[in-house]
Amino acid sequence: RRRREPATVAVIGLGRFGAALALELMRNGAEVLGIDTAEEVVQELNGRLTSVVRADATQEQVLRQLGVDEFDKVVVGIGSDVQASILVASRLLKFGHPEIWAKAITTPHAEILDQLGVHHVISPEHDMGVRAAHLIQGRVLDFLSIDEGFALIRCPAPEAVQQHPLDALDVRRAHGVAVVAVRRPGQGWEATEPGTVLYEDDQILVTGPTRAVEAFGELV
Ligand code: ADP
Repeated sequence: RRRREPATVAVIGLGRFGAALALELMRNGAEVLGIDTAEEVVQELNGRLTSVVRADATQEQVLRQLGVDEFDKVVVGIGSDVQASILVASRLLKFGHPEIWAKAITTPHAEILDQLGVHHVISPEHDMGVRAAHLIQGRVLDFLSIDEGFALIRCPAPEAVQQHPLDALDVRRAHGVAVVAVRRPGQGWEATEPGTVLYEDDQILVTGPTRAVEAFGELV
């Protein structure tokens, strides 16, 4: 059987966001080309990414020379320089690159990237703010917005779903959510089954419409 080739990713703009992303991709076995205009940034990451180049990515010939269009995925991590972010994104779109990700720092920035046709727009500060609100308000340990109106949380198992098999409790009908995984004290995560029984000190992953998931989190 043929071995799956590692994904190739070009990361343009290696600030706090781009650098953390590029290093995590490396840890997960991807081949990563990093591009940044700042010499100190390039030096800092030299040898830690597959390759790092000091260049201005707003220049079309730079993107061409580096063969950015041949990478499986391209991430635009430039944030504070909105003009540069938009310019780079539009050049990549002109090449017809099939999978462009870009970071936005404000809502209008996100809207423009979206309108240009960028395939995945990430708004880390906005999303992190929403997430932090859920962490601060409740006993929810993690909150992940899957899509507008749909979410996944990690929380301790509320008393209301302890001691009886999940199917007997009819969690979906009672609470409008699904308990999809459980972690017993001292053990790893495992997917739940209809017959799974939860106890105090178990942690669970719960998914469903955001409102239902939030209401479930209140039970904790
Ligand atoms: P963060 O908040 O993640 O640190 P920044 O927007 O502050 O994000 O950093 C973006 C990075 O992008 C910086 O390291 C900057 O040098 C780099 N950058 C800015 N403009 C360009 C460009 N035209 N080409 C390549 N890299 C750029």
